[in-house]
Amino acid sequence: MDPVRRVDWRTRATEVDLANREADIQAGVEAVRAAARICVDVQRTLVTSDTLEKKDKSPVTVADFASQAVVCTHLAGALPGDRVVGEEDAAELRSEENAALRAAVVERVSSQIEGGATEARVLDAIDLGGAPAQGDRYWTLDPIDGTKGFLRGEQYAVALGLIENGEVVLGILGCPNLGQGDGLGALFVGGREVPARVFALADDDQGVPIRVAAPASVAAARFCESVESGHSDQSQSQEIARRLGITTEPYRIDSQCKYAAVSRGDASIYLRLPTRKDYREKIWDHAAGKAVVEAAGGRVTDVDGRDLDFTTGRTLERNRGIIATSGAIHDAVLDAVRATLAS
Ligand code: AMP
Ligand code: MG
Repeated sequence: MDPVRRVDWRTRATEVDLANREADIQAGVEAVRAAARICVDVQRTLVTSDTLEKKDKSPVTVADFASQAVVCTHLAGALPGDRVVGEEDAAELRSEENAALRAAVVERVSSQIEGGATEARVLDAIDLGGAPAQGDRYWTLDPIDGTKGFLRGEQYAVALGLIENGEVVLGILGCPNLGQGDGLGALFVGGREVPARVFALADDDQGVPIRVAAPASVAAARFCESVESGHSDQSQSQEIARRLGITTEPYRIDSQCKYAAVSRGDASIYLRLPTRKDYREKIWDHAAGKAVVEAAGGRVTDVDGRDLDFTTGRTLERNRGIIATSGAIHDAVLDAVRATLAS
């Protein structure tokens, strides 16, 4: 039988769709693993008590550019023609006064791509991530999500999502400091027709399926939120927890590691409550995490209960804030969020 026409009636996916998705997963996972290796190395070698004290952001700048260059290079090699909407562009890196930064980035990228790297190759690779957020298929990348966590020597993520026809169909989260099994670092994969799994970040293992937690009641649920109080209103989250009868302390971690935590049941609620009326969430801050949580059985909306709308460009224009939960408790959480925001 012609494989194009064979349809799985349960999922309505054709075999060709499924084979293509396997190729997407493989390319995305390899890209994220290579980028994460650079980030790990930079965090170990360049983040010091001195940079911490001086609030020196240069370590994350090197890793951010190098991570985007590596992901774009891998995707361009494996899936030619695919577009990437990345957080960074190379304009700043091209300028005269940034020669030292440029050299540092090229050196880091060289270790992770075949054939080595030249300045031109690296700058062009970063700019490959400058595609517009429109069309029927594109990847969206946060090369280092949680830069503040990275600089504190704590949690961050390399986050890669794939958007098709306005829907996130695949998410890959590399979380180098999130423990998994014996080793350090976890890699989360999930999406539409892609069951959620967690892998060791460092080696090519088989991974294990993950599932959101099933708290006995909403009061028994643990919630997570940003470390940075400027990114989510922590006094409002306290009030929401009080309304829900939650007494355990919040799990505060940077980056999309929060979505990872919900997807494997370390927490059951992720609250991201707007601190400013005019702030719009970025697509690369949520695409991968949403895909993984939903594939693990959870639910993701904004604070008004709306589905996240990925059809409005680089930002989620029609949404405000984020609520992700293990699913069954979602409506109860939304009620408490609405009551708190209204008061
Ligand atoms: P987190 O590690 O969860 O605190 O989030 C990090 C992300 O917060 C960064 O990638 C930024 O894009 C995003 N961000 C920056 N400013 C704000 C803000 N005012 N509200 C919400 N998110 C923000
Ligand atoms: Mg980010």
